[in-house]
Amino acid sequence: MLLRNRAAVALGLRLCSTHVTKGPVVEASSDMSEFRKVFSKAKHIAIITGAGVSAESGVPTFRGAGGNWRKWQTQDLATPEAFSRNPSRVWEFYHYRRELALSKKPNAAHLAIAECEARLRKQGRSVVVITQTIDDLHRQAGSKHVLKIHGSLMETRCVSCGHVTTNRRSPICASLKGKGSPDLETADAQIPVDKLPRCQESDCRGLLRPNVVFFGETLDSHVLTKVEKELDTCDLCLVVGTSSIVYPAAMFGPQVASRGVPVAEFNTVTTPKTEYFTYHFHGPCGTTLPLALARHETEII
Ligand SMILES: [Zn+2]
Repeated sequence: MLLRNRAAVALGLRLCSTHVTKGPVVEASSDMSEFRKVFSKAKHIAIITGAGVSAESGVPTFRGAGGNWRKWQTQDLATPEAFSRNPSRVWEFYHYRRELALSKKPNAAHLAIAECEARLRKQGRSVVVITQTIDDLHRQAGSKHVLKIHGSLMETRCVSCGHVTTNRRSPICASLKGKGSPDLETADAQIPVDKLPRCQESDCRGLLRPNVVFFGETLDSHVLTKVEKELDTCDLCLVVGTSSIVYPAAMFGPQVASRGVPVAEFNTVTTPKTEYFTYHFHGPCGTTLPLALARHETEII
């Protein structure tokens, strides 16, 4: 079962079936005191986060109405084809997103997750964040155990040697300074490829790309193997600020629920997966999560 799931997950973003064998449970409860009892006994908590958590810090999702950059949508720019055809334009887009993300601060939801992880660690309990977000806000908040399934805006990968490195420089290179405006009238900067971010490894000098998963690409199998292990061993799962539409992340919560483990959804809306979950807490996660993850009266440290 596990191996089959792992093979399915390895198919990446193009996956479109949940492989959940157990049907929907009864309607999700919004009883916080019941959730708190379960929380107080959990030893290993997996917290799956999505764009909603970042949106509450003001990081745009570039999805849906008003989600365009110039005349393009993310799906037009975040592809391997777009990057090989016009790396300057794609770098302008990601430069804009990096600068925007660097200007934002973690919100109450990020902070509650990080504080909970640090507190529970002292009690021999663990919290892992499995995130679809590509900004740096979980790390900034202090979370230590974070699995980034869609990569990171603050990492680059060399297209020649494959070297991945953390890079929070602003701007990432001199030629992108002041570029990347999202305004419709802005012309492409048409930066020569040798002036775009280049690999610093010895004499490589290969072109760098953002270390994010583009549309049509598979997810990093090393990260997914770790995710599978966490989903298989957690005894409580939170699904926070994710629309549960993009696969394979959309199946993570239902996969845990199919083992009979409690899953709690925190969102401003119900989602296509709400019916699989034990709990649903409605509202901004910056409001609901601090209550849910606060110190429980039974915690002695
Ligand atoms: Zn290189």
